[in-house]
Amino acid sequence: TAQVEELEFQAETRQLLDLMVHSIYSNKDSFLRELISNASDALDKLRLESYQNKDLDVDTSDLHIEIDLDKEARTFTLRDNGIGMSRAEVVDLIGTLAKSGTAELRRKLNEAKSAAASEELIGQFGIGFYSTFIVADKVTLLTRRAGETEATRWESTGEGTYTIETVNEAPQGTTITLHLKPEDSEDHLYDYTSEWKVKEIVKRYSDFIAFPIRMDIERTTPASKTEDGEEVPASTTIETQTLNSMKALWTRPKSDVSDEEYKEFYKHVSHAWDEPLEIIPLKAEGTFEYQALLFIPSQAPFDLFNRDSARGIHLYVKRVFIMDDCEELMPEYLRFVKGVVDAQDLSLNVSREILQQDRQIRAIQRRLVKKVLSTIKDMSAEKYDTFWGQFGRVLKEGLLSDFDNKDAILGVSSFATTNDDDKLTRLADYVERMKDGQEQIYYMTGETRQAIESSPHMEAFKAKGLEVLVLTDPVDEMWVGSVQEFDGKTFQSIAKGEVDLDTEDEKQATEALRDEQSKEFADLLLWMTSTLEDQVKEVRLSSRLTTSPACVVGGDMDMSPQLEKMYRASGQ
Ligand code: ADP
Ligand code: MG
Repeated sequence: TAQVEELEFQAETRQLLDLMVHSIYSNKDSFLRELISNASDALDKLRLESYQNKDLDVDTSDLHIEIDLDKEARTFTLRDNGIGMSRAEVVDLIGTLAKSGTAELRRKLNEAKSAAASEELIGQFGIGFYSTFIVADKVTLLTRRAGETEATRWESTGEGTYTIETVNEAPQGTTITLHLKPEDSEDHLYDYTSEWKVKEIVKRYSDFIAFPIRMDIERTTPASKTEDGEEVPASTTIETQTLNSMKALWTRPKSDVSDEEYKEFYKHVSHAWDEPLEIIPLKAEGTFEYQALLFIPSQAPFDLFNRDSARGIHLYVKRVFIMDDCEELMPEYLRFVKGVVDAQDLSLNVSREILQQDRQIRAIQRRLVKKVLSTIKDMSAEKYDTFWGQFGRVLKEGLLSDFDNKDAILGVSSFATTNDDDKLTRLADYVERMKDGQEQIYYMTGETRQAIESSPHMEAFKAKGLEVLVLTDPVDEMWVGSVQEFDGKTFQSIAKGEVDLDTEDEKQATEALRDEQSKEFADLLLWMTSTLEDQVKEVRLSSRLTTSPACVVGGDMDMSPQLEKMYRASGQ
């Protein structure tokens, strides 16, 4: 007899499920998009695996998704004949939160007390499979992995535990049965046993899915009489319908695709629940033909800084899914860009190793990067603000790695400035405001705006009304070391070396004064230099300060204190 094992959900998963089971999530229909999205992924994976592994004995001639409704039992069933899952995979993928950054999630979960906050959280984290618990009070999953004989049955009410057992027989692929919540039975808006309702959702969310989504539709012909008065009894026939058009969105002309369709496709490829900020379709014809459909999200995923979890760009070859997170197509600093590239002339057997060497892939990447940067450049002010708030810190990483596009990246970057307490500035606007005779772009790095503003280095700049960029992101510390100039103006740290702020007349006057003072203070300076020998190179008079008596200045070639701290912290 099969042994049924009861296991506990991982702590964060439990909290998340609790939220899902008890929240009144307004967009309940989303569960279906998630199930179809997962089924479609599973079909893609099976098709790919059967290409790559000729020993895998599977039938891929009719890859599809099937929906079954049972009004009496109030169940909704979705079946795919895709890759399926082994028992270990079920425990791993379904029993634990398949996402990194759980610490962040835990923090947010604890904060999410109000209904609106939970709603936002659900949206932000993109709660894939677990979204079934928005509509179901029990979920059963039966799955058999391609190539395996034993299958796995998983069941849960979403309340802390699930059961799992190995079963002998099941079709290959995955069947998920939702036992719909009784409270929704009266409300036709949420009647997921209604053919009409399900057809409408599939059309709205999943029309572009590349595999047929089928459902049996019952047609009842009422009893009637023929002309001769003969009785014809009522009859029902069952007709299998395909609910989606299966047209790949990226192959259709832009004018043909609605915004809604693009948005739903974005959610499918990105596994996210937000809306795209920009939709970028592009196409290349000629020797190397490809189509691409890229998206810039409107909300950063909570694990943006966790490199492993980036999903990025999906690669297709002639409409066949090849891989997700294709690093070769998008550099790391644009890892927030989502979408697909469909290349016509690659082999279906293409591997990562081949991609890394491929000149054409590199050419595609170059073009995609340029297109993304120019899209950012052309954004409306409002969109740009959203974009920069979410992804600015990541984009700036490009200043360290992408020298070809350095100017373009600087051009779309913005920075805090002493010119305005709240608003950021673009460099072009800074240059525009530069004073007569000012030749450099002044900046200071530090941990907080406050620390920078109250630094003694700032005094002379304030006194002269010179604008200084206030750079507080850790990445700023890095790029200022390698980027020399913008628009012919060099970057100058106000905390390093000699900063020359005076006009010629002023200079002569100060020099005269300085000469006199140097004589006057020569003994003192000498004494201070020798007393502080171990700590500083030199003690000198300065015109930097207006109110503080003294400050420590780095040499031109020295590391900034923050960088020094970073190196020290990393043990170097
Ligand atoms: P995501 O799709 O973002 O990874 P989900 O919660 O939707 O997150 O799914 C978790 C994982 O469970 C998937 O990544 C996949 O590995 C597995 N999975 C879900 N549904 C299926 C399915 N129908 N067939 C095979 N594997 C599945
Ligand atoms: Mg999913």
